[in-house]
Amino acid sequence: MDSVAEIKSRLSIEQLVAEYCQLQKKGRNFVCVCPFHNDTHPSLLVSPDKGIAYCFACQSGGDIFSFYQKIEGVEFSQAIKDLAEKAGVTLPKHEFAPKGPSKDEKERLRECLNEAMVFYCESLKGNQIASEYLRGRKVPASLIELFGVGFAPDSYDATYTELLKKGFSRSEIMKAGLGIQKELKEERIYDRFRNRIMFPIKDTLGNLIGFGGRTLGEDDAKYINSPDSPLYNKSVALFGLSYAKEAIRKEKAVILVEGYFDVLAFHRIGIENVVAVSGTALTEQHVAILKRTAETLILCLDQDTAGREAAERAYLFAKTQDLAVRFLRVPQGKDPDECANMAPEEMRKAADQKGVPYFDHVLSELAALRPEKRAMLRKILPLLTIIPSAVEKEDCIAKAAALLGSTVIALNDDLRREQEFLRRRNEEQGRTITTAAFHPVELLLGLIFTYPQHLTIVNELVAPDAEKPKALYHALRALNLGERGAITEEDVPENLREYAAVLHLYCEEQFGTWSEDLAGVEIRKLCAKVNRDVLKQKQQELIEGIKEARSTGKKMEEEKLLNQYQQVLKLVSIAP
Ligand SMILES: [Zn+2]
Repeated sequence: MDSVAEIKSRLSIEQLVAEYCQLQKKGRNFVCVCPFHNDTHPSLLVSPDKGIAYCFACQSGGDIFSFYQKIEGVEFSQAIKDLAEKAGVTLPKHEFAPKGPSKDEKERLRECLNEAMVFYCESLKGNQIASEYLRGRKVPASLIELFGVGFAPDSYDATYTELLKKGFSRSEIMKAGLGIQKELKEERIYDRFRNRIMFPIKDTLGNLIGFGGRTLGEDDAKYINSPDSPLYNKSVALFGLSYAKEAIRKEKAVILVEGYFDVLAFHRIGIENVVAVSGTALTEQHVAILKRTAETLILCLDQDTAGREAAERAYLFAKTQDLAVRFLRVPQGKDPDECANMAPEEMRKAADQKGVPYFDHVLSELAALRPEKRAMLRKILPLLTIIPSAVEKEDCIAKAAALLGSTVIALNDDLRREQEFLRRRNEEQGRTITTAAFHPVELLLGLIFTYPQHLTIVNELVAPDAEKPKALYHALRALNLGERGAITEEDVPENLREYAAVLHLYCEEQFGTWSEDLAGVEIRKLCAKVNRDVLKQKQQELIEGIKEARSTGKKMEEEKLLNQYQQVLKLVSIAP
């Protein structure tokens, strides 16, 4: 058995998907909310029999490798390494091993970052001011070690020089985001991070992808982050996630805080389901990632204008993806970091209670501020329209009406107007998800897998033009089932198995309840339609060709095409 097959045999698709999504049983399959699009009901179908997880709404997924590549954003070579490890399969050295100098670019950049991290950690140990600073902020040594917190020396090129020494090229150091060129024509490279406390930022698996740095000097930018690179994408990266994963799964909730020190503050009091964005506001992608394991997003953000805006934005994204949103107000101090120092016990208690529903939090803020009614409505209506659950919405409307001194009926009226306005705006923007779009010939092939008794119908099918359907068509034509009642995986060439399984799964779901006779009738009808379409297109192409040949005086060519045209006509007349 080759490595791919062995990994597949040991790691089931449902096992892998369950690490990211909450599966529900549905007949022989499982379903879950699709992590690849803004899904509102469970669209991802997971078939243990076929080893496939696929969303027909956004056309994403496939076998364990495809699913993993897509959800982790990695190449096949990385997927096979990671999944081999998960499945406990040892990969043979010659296979998939990076080849000499052309070693995967990402791998090199990762090594470069790792060397930088080692360097920063060493520098921290040797620098009294930096160590003193962390002590002052009450970060214990255990967390410094766990998170790999370090220090970038106050030097123009100490990091750069160190990395050159370790064998990284100028361009690799630049690409890893660790060096900058002040001006294009200037040759000299400067360290991007100077005199800063360094926080390594990791992906969900714990691989280093970038850094965030907090200045110890008078620098205008208190915090700076790695620039986006082949490894680091700030709209996806979440600081602390790899340490939070288990706790999020257990609590089914994740706490979102503003900064690196806030994440450490929660860890300090023993709460681990906490993450922070780095160098950007929360994005839809961040929410989609958190949604894989969390049901509730707990916002623990500053109470200033920027913090309020960030919270509202987070609420809107999270609600559209049907996450519950709560707000955790720190019991003392201005942020979790301060609070963990001043009142750790109270903060732990507040975190255990998971704060209050975000909507209630907004209402209580409005109740305290008492702006004029119109301003209140402007604040409340957008929050209400986004709530997917009717029950929850009713509840919120009642609370809001009470605060406004209005009635539920009046507020519902305003809400309908707001919704109508939003609906029209959305329509104008045309933001819809493309739905399942298989070509009819693909449906036909999928139906053959679902109803293999009708395999011989493929003999009546005109060969498709597109590459994959064509290859599958030929594989099926070459097949002789004999006494067997089903088409098995081995009947299909390896490179087409995933494709065939996706088509099979789709047809089984959509049309799996037909009787054998009905299936025969439907498949034949579809076959006729496909043939008609193909022949019509061929005819059209030939007519164009004949015209062209005639106008340029190519007699032979015209003759040949006319001949073909006659044959197609004949085919049309006998096609089923
Ligand atoms: Zn999807």
